[in-house]
Amino acid sequence: MTTIDAPAIDHDALRAKYAAERDKRIRPDGNQQYIEPKGKFAHFLDDPYVERVEREPLHDEVTVVLIGGGFAGLCTGARLKQAGIDDVRIIEGGGDVGGAWYWNRYPGAMCDTAAMIYLPLLEETGHMPSKKYVFAPEIFGHAQRIARTFGLYDNALFSTAVESLTWDEDASRWIVRTDRGDEIRAKYVAMGTGPLHRPKLPGIEGIESFEGHAFHTSRWDYDYTGGSPDGAPMDKLADKRVGIIGTGATAVQCIPQLARDAAELFVFQRTPSSIDVRNNHEIDPEWFATLGPGWQREWLFNFATLQTGGFADEDLVKDGWTDIAQRIRDRVIAEMSKPGAEVGPDLIARAFSDSDDEKMTEIRARVDAVVDDPATAEALKPWYRQLCKRPCFHDEYLDAYNVETCHLIDTDGQGVDRIDATGVWVGDQHYELDCLVFASGFEVGTEYSRRSGYETYGVDGQALSDRWADGMRTMHGLHVHGFPNLFIIGMNQGANLISNITSNLVEAGSTIAAVVAHAEETGAERVEVTAEAEDAWIALLEGSSMAFLGSADCTPGYYNNEGGPIGPKERLNASGYPQGPVAFFQFIEQWRTSGDFDGLAFTPGS
Ligand code: NDP
Repeated sequence: MTTIDAPAIDHDALRAKYAAERDKRIRPDGNQQYIEPKGKFAHFLDDPYVERVEREPLHDEVTVVLIGGGFAGLCTGARLKQAGIDDVRIIEGGGDVGGAWYWNRYPGAMCDTAAMIYLPLLEETGHMPSKKYVFAPEIFGHAQRIARTFGLYDNALFSTAVESLTWDEDASRWIVRTDRGDEIRAKYVAMGTGPLHRPKLPGIEGIESFEGHAFHTSRWDYDYTGGSPDGAPMDKLADKRVGIIGTGATAVQCIPQLARDAAELFVFQRTPSSIDVRNNHEIDPEWFATLGPGWQREWLFNFATLQTGGFADEDLVKDGWTDIAQRIRDRVIAEMSKPGAEVGPDLIARAFSDSDDEKMTEIRARVDAVVDDPATAEALKPWYRQLCKRPCFHDEYLDAYNVETCHLIDTDGQGVDRIDATGVWVGDQHYELDCLVFASGFEVGTEYSRRSGYETYGVDGQALSDRWADGMRTMHGLHVHGFPNLFIIGMNQGANLISNITSNLVEAGSTIAAVVAHAEETGAERVEVTAEAEDAWIALLEGSSMAFLGSADCTPGYYNNEGGPIGPKERLNASGYPQGPVAFFQFIEQWRTSGDFDGLAFTPGS
């Protein structure tokens, strides 16, 4: 993809440089370095987009409660409706559907995965994405479209946070309690609370003493900045000195807009992101009209295949995600064709690491080609393997550092030292600021109940947090023994396809709908994974040699437990089907359509 000429590569020198950069960033406090938005920052969690309207508490019963109105809940709701299960209620903390795309309205927000595969249910909703990669407002609009198309607004409760979920064994019902005083009984509950749901803040000394304006990127304060999610200029920043902490995928997207609009912008960088080309373009309606029925499934399958090292005649998506996989394959084929070549794990590992070195060398060369100031360019170069952190793709990010009023404050891997009433300290330099934006990400490594904001009590009152104290335990990532009629909608312990999250969610939704429909057709009151089936699934995952997503030798981040130990618990929490996403999708489709529902026990009503 990248067209910059890259210098020759000294692989050993690169390994040593990567290790040194990683070591520099390892901190004993790992995940504990972050703090929750509490106390002075509690309002960071408020919803800036809607007024909370008071209402009477509900005391009723529905067939299915979906916790979360993001793509997880929406895809499951859509599949349930298609399966004839009509009595479905979304309960959502935000004022509308959309999940991450409801909350994240920061300027420049877009999705790094091509819209043709990222936007779920395109054929079912008849939507043509406007561009190859679409911006957040279109994605939010698509979430609303799914809700409208499948009647998921009808019974939904918004601005309502679930506080607890309790299984009533006698009645075979879940009791869902909310912050509105609701007590809703549900035969089934599906939880789609998302992996990137709870904003976190860096635990920097003095953070609470800052007296300027501050907010987290997931609650962008347009009242303060001016502008809009559609990209209108943030005119109120014209006389403001703005600081931003963080240079991850979120910051990369909003920094160009801040650089354009703020009087001065100070970007406090701990670790640079890898920035590959974006190459966005409009989708041609005439071409789109030529796609036949079933096209999206074909694209999804093609992308997942190519992105995870498989072979296909054609690369339909053709982007940065498939590029690296393509390079690895080409290299393996080239090595294999050499006389006497032995194809084995060593050859594949070498092909992987050489391709990655080549890719990252190009990415670093691109920084030199775009950024005018050599010292700034040097500081913007990422020194780690591409998949150690979320790869970023952007055509304006690096250029932002050529704007005279945009200053990169590199902290050489150490982060900001201190915050005081008027600004930020890095070393002995103080940066006075009117506004501080936290692009510091979301909780990933903390307990499920802390991230979702409520506890789930299953059979005999067992808390899900206790059940998972030593790591997540499910069958297929969906079913938990001791928690009947409950489904987890996600990707862990299932396909685990990180490059296209919604693929995982559509499959999970289809599976849940099939299980619920089967239970309803057969008059079952209770459906639960057996202990044996759950154990067998966990054994399958544990027996896999698949590497943790970002392995221990990676630069710290949420992909690798912030560089902390990766023990059995961390492995379980982030594991996926040993044969990879495509094999999982094939397996699960066969599982849910066979009619056997192996591993589940359906109990009839008395
Ligand atoms: P991240 O967790 O990826 O980034 C947090 C940033 O804050 C990092 O750059 C981190 O540095 C920095 N940071 C933390 N503490 C300090 C400190 N004390 N001093 C200075 N810097 C600090 O969060 P994001 O919101 O950027 O992204 C989260 C995820 O959301 C992405 O990984 C991606 O999965 C998703 N996303 C997806 C998008 C898409 O296109 N689909 C777009 C945006 C987000 P360090 O790296 O050193 O830890």
